[in-house]
Amino acid sequence: MADPDCIFCKIVAGEIPATIVEQDERTIAFMDISPATRGHVLVIPREHATDVHAINPEDLAAVALTAQRVAAKALRNLGAAGVNLLNSNGPAAWQTVFHFHMHVIPRYDDDPLRLPWVPAAGDMDEIAAAGEQLRGDGG
Ligand code: 5GP
Ligand code: ZN
Repeated sequence: MADPDCIFCKIVAGEIPATIVEQDERTIAFMDISPATRGHVLVIPREHATDVHAINPEDLAAVALTAQRVAAKALRNLGAAGVNLLNSNGPAAWQTVFHFHMHVIPRYDDDPLRLPWVPAAGDMDEIAAAGEQLRGDGG
């Protein structure tokens, strides 16, 4: 099921580290390594599927529900004013990791984000702090 060359399958398997903020039987949500805004999360199915065309309907629904829970926490725990849910399919649509994922991007009044954003390496300590605050277990 897992693709040995897929970085997100390695996160599912625990082979590379990630700051996980939500998970259930079908999905995992973790902090994006190059956040577009504070609290940027990726929601993925545990089972490998390249994109919206390949993912099975149950996993697609499960990803949507996990994204909804994370989006609510972005408002409640991070003080976001809004949230973008974004999913890219194919290089022409900016997809760069070919394991289906839904971006949950908290938006703040007057934040500078414009789409498409140019990913830049994030500060790992700050990403971990945002993940803890988003989970709601860090105060
Ligand atoms: P895409 O461009 O395919 O829609 O989004 C891929 C996302 O995955 C990017 O926002 C990128 O920062 C993120 N990403 C790529 N590699 C890793 C990684 O190893 N760990 C984490 N947490 N995020 C990653
Ligand atoms: Zn994968």
